[in-house]
Amino acid sequence: MITFVGAGPGDPDLITIKGRKALEKADIIIYAGSLVSPEHLTCAKETCEIYNSAKMHLDEVLDVMVEGDRAGKEIVRLHTGDPSIYGAIQEQMDPLEKLGIEFEVIPGVSSFVAAAAAIKKEFTLPNVSQTVILTRVKGRTDVPESENLESLAAHGASMALFLSVGHIEKVIESLIKGYGRDDVPVAVVYRATWKDEKKIFGTLKDICQKVQDENIIKQAQILVGDFIDTDYELSKLYDKHFTTEYRQGIKR
Ligand code: SAH
Repeated sequence: MITFVGAGPGDPDLITIKGRKALEKADIIIYAGSLVSPEHLTCAKETCEIYNSAKMHLDEVLDVMVEGDRAGKEIVRLHTGDPSIYGAIQEQMDPLEKLGIEFEVIPGVSSFVAAAAAIKKEFTLPNVSQTVILTRVKGRTDVPESENLESLAAHGASMALFLSVGHIEKVIESLIKGYGRDDVPVAVVYRATWKDEKKIFGTLKDICQKVQDENIIKQAQILVGDFIDTDYELSKLYDKHFTTEYRQGIKR
């Protein structure tokens, strides 16, 4: 059996209990060494075979999985954050499916929510934004033209940009065009939940320089939107005058 597990954003305590249990009983662990803390491996069995996928190509990863499964072993494929976001797992799952090999996926805490927690903000504030856009700019992987950053920013929604801090100048230029103003708040969170986490706050106008001064070129979330610094209305959910399925509202 093969289990894809989301390791969470960095702090090894942020894996799910189900994910940790899968690691504890694994005979083989293939972990994404570039962004998964090796501390996760301390709970592995002494006899567990460990592979770092940062040094492997797709066929090598698949070979380890397929051969391990044929030998009746428990295999964990450990991915950073949540595996469904920029995890390149579809290309691993589809060949397994074709071969009739059973697998399951255990979700994880994605870095975009870890970054929001680090800055203690809520993406979805009433009358500010009720939408979160998760995206990236083109790197070696293309982004469909219909999803270009400027057009996404034009929604004025809350945004979390993965894999983009290395192109911060281009990113900010497109965001200013899209949002139509340069005073939109931005927070760049480098290595959220790791011991060397850094948080940089600014606006579209000044964030670029601040990020360059800190020399941050990878492993960061760029969070953008008024949710970072604005007034907002209180929610209906906890409004004392509001009646819900669970609670009778107080009459005005
Ligand atoms: N599946 C992962 C994303 C993998 S893509 C997830 O759900 O988080 C790798 C990108 O994720 C990095 O370039 C960076 O933009 C972001 N990232 C991953 N871990 C991070 C962390 N601890 N802090 C900030 N950004 C992180």
